[in-house]
Amino acid sequence: KIRTLNKNNFLTKSPEEAKEILQELIKQLLKAIEYFSTDQARKYFPAKTLSYTVINKAWNGVSFLNPQAKNLDFYDDYQNYFVAPVQKYLQEDHSKDKYICSTCGRPIKRLEYSYGFLNDMGYDLNRKTSNAWNFKNDLYICPVCQFLYSLVPAGFTYNMASQGIFINENSSIRNLQGKNDATFNSMMRDIRSNTQTSPYRAFSAAFKDAEASGQNAALANIQLITYNNDHYNFQIIPIVASKVLIKVVEKKYTVKQTGEVKSYLANLYNAGISNFRGAGYYSILENVLNCLFNNTNLFSIIQELELLKVGNTAGCYYNTFQIMTVIRMNGWFLNELHKYRRSENAMKVEEDKLTKARGCGMHVRMGYDNENKAKTLAYKMLEAIRANSTDRFMELLLNAYLYLDKTVPKIFIETQSNTEVFKEYAFAFIAGLIGSSNAEQDK
Ligand SMILES: [Zn+2]
Repeated sequence: KIRTLNKNNFLTKSPEEAKEILQELIKQLLKAIEYFSTDQARKYFPAKTLSYTVINKAWNGVSFLNPQAKNLDFYDDYQNYFVAPVQKYLQEDHSKDKYICSTCGRPIKRLEYSYGFLNDMGYDLNRKTSNAWNFKNDLYICPVCQFLYSLVPAGFTYNMASQGIFINENSSIRNLQGKNDATFNSMMRDIRSNTQTSPYRAFSAAFKDAEASGQNAALANIQLITYNNDHYNFQIIPIVASKVLIKVVEKKYTVKQTGEVKSYLANLYNAGISNFRGAGYYSILENVLNCLFNNTNLFSIIQELELLKVGNTAGCYYNTFQIMTVIRMNGWFLNELHKYRRSENAMKVEEDKLTKARGCGMHVRMGYDNENKAKTLAYKMLEAIRANSTDRFMELLLNAYLYLDKTVPKIFIETQSNTEVFKEYAFAFIAGLIGSSNAEQDK
């Protein structure tokens, strides 16, 4: 009937007939719409959608995700495939079993179940025998473990872009649920408000939680499992990274224009670079956290951010205030590391001095008659830092102050003996040289 309506000029040629057809069609459409509020539709449609958007991120190819599945009722299929074997297993006597489950150590009678159905975790045992020692696979699991692994998608928090996160907070099941719920709720808020969703950003919600409940360093030494483009990544959150994160959540600043109080962390949420090195979106927060989790300082990120900014590169969605946040975080990181290193050169990065160094950079910029002079100086200074040459940096700094007929700020003279601390102030100075954050924040 729709085809008839689609015929050339049918609506104008035979309006009466068209009206009849439409009335008939509307009746049928209403029936179809009504169907979606029946119990049957409510039971099956959301589940079907979930299986293709969430569940298949964790496993595939078996039970209701087997493309050749014969049982069309996928609840039933799941029950038969994952639940029934557990029920059967629990009723059997296992005292004489020959094998044990490679995950939990429960005795098993037969070698039946494997990790093979999990994405990126196992392989087809029957086809790829060469993956195992002497072609005999011994990594079999019990039905209980198979059932638990089928629940991986329920524990992970995924965003719409095939990234996921799971906080393996295994101090207690309550804490595990609490931390992952916080992550999930934060992700849902982001999705609803259509902001950039990132598992790392959602993860920082768990830190807010920890801060609110007064657990200092609550997430240190906890395993974090991230999922990105079909691959898992296992990280242990180092205690130093955890302390930096707590700080970045705790520390607040006031937005001048609106008077709104924000955490430094929130300041980084939307900072990023589009089409970074021709390869998609680069989230600054995500990369900063990744560095911290690997116990790496943030100097190379800061260098990159400032260099792109100096070069007026297109697609840089961040301002110098956000660069300063990364510099601050790096300072906290270096100071924390210091406590563990117990090095002799016990110099610390001081926050008020970072602000001061940036202010100095701003003054130098304003002292020039031409904006490009400041940019050229920033570029040369970044080169000096990249080459690890404190001398070259000092030379540029002295020249700049000579030109302005002013004395070089003490900060740089005092810290020359400690490269890392010196670099921090140097980057803050360059951030000031590059541009005023107020104007950019207005923008
Ligand atoms: Zn097991």
